[in-house]
Amino acid sequence: MCADLSRIRRFLDERDPPTPCLVVDTDVVAARAAEFRAAFPGALVRYAVKANPAPPVLDTLVAAGAGFDVAGPAELTLCLERGADPADLAYGNPIKKPRDIAYAYGRGVREFTSDAADDVDHLGRHAPGSAVSIRVVLDAPDSVTPFGRKFGCEPAEALDLVLRAAGLGLRPGIAFHVGSQQPDVAAWEIGVTTAAKLFAEAAAQGVEMTRLNLGGGFATTHRTAVPPLAAYATAIASALDSCFPAGRPDLLLEPGRVLVADAGLLRAEVVLVANRGERRWVYLDIGRYNGLAEAENEAIAYRFEPVEPHPGPVGPVVLAGPTCDGDDVLYQRTPYELPLSLRTGDRLDLPGTGAYTASYASVAFNGIEPLRTYCVGRWGDA
Ligand SMILES: *Cc1c(COP(=O)(O)O)cnc(C)c1O
Repeated sequence: MCADLSRIRRFLDERDPPTPCLVVDTDVVAARAAEFRAAFPGALVRYAVKANPAPPVLDTLVAAGAGFDVAGPAELTLCLERGADPADLAYGNPIKKPRDIAYAYGRGVREFTSDAADDVDHLGRHAPGSAVSIRVVLDAPDSVTPFGRKFGCEPAEALDLVLRAAGLGLRPGIAFHVGSQQPDVAAWEIGVTTAAKLFAEAAAQGVEMTRLNLGGGFATTHRTAVPPLAAYATAIASALDSCFPAGRPDLLLEPGRVLVADAGLLRAEVVLVANRGERRWVYLDIGRYNGLAEAENEAIAYRFEPVEPHPGPVGPVVLAGPTCDGDDVLYQRTPYELPLSLRTGDRLDLPGTGAYTASYASVAFNGIEPLRTYCVGRWGDA
């Protein structure tokens, strides 16, 4: 869905902040959160903080009644500082130090995800009695930014881990993540089917699970349209109905991108235009190291909209970032066309950039500061 970005554009017109910068409209985040809740009634929503941890974004989601999926102690502390209830936090990162588990437990977190025997043992020791969802790896259709094999265990091992967790006094459930920016709504069906089998197998061994974590992965539109949220909700509901005919388990959802991407607009400036052989290179003050990390492998193809009017013709470009790094190229295979009159100092707007931009920026590579975020709207700080 297209967000109304007029408040952001007004802010940019009036304040003209140095570029590059990201502007997020917290009202749009609130609207997305409301839409998401309406699409999945009854499910517990845990916003994946890594998508955009700007304090006003967290404030917006606390006010919206969402919980938070945190990756470690720093995100956890940040959420608590912004007023989140520890009962609404889920420590969703399967890779965690025992002392970080103990810290989370000490701060009141009782919901974890795990995918390895040692980690289950650490949880049994440092987070006694907690809910632990065992993450399974799926042969789901490739997402735009897949997780590969880094996370999740095979379903056969998952059953062992479920029984192991129950034996340690933990409350096991099942989790999966279909990969971020997942355009195939049928991907969740594979996870739900796998989970239902594990629920039945565990029950046969005397362990009744109650929790199913459906992860994140809901895609947002950049250059190509993705299915509306309602299409995801319908596909997931029908998978749940057919796989859990006797009644649904308690559901957890961990949306990241879908709650914040459309709420953000990034403004950048052209540093240099150079014709090299057949190709016109346009170097911007935004690149892979100061905000557009997801352009790696050209996975996410952002939109670039000239701010100044360029009435003349457009032509193909290679887009690259500002740093002294040969990999700081944004797009050389993905076709892009920009005005032939584009010159140094001209500006470009990148809509749909509220997720995985500022949070991915390096701290000082080439002395370039991390992408600055301004938040506008009801919970804004700008
Ligand atoms: C990153 C992540 C999410 C959020 O994924 P999106 O694709 O942004 O919705 C949810 N859960 C876990 C465990 C994650 O690592």
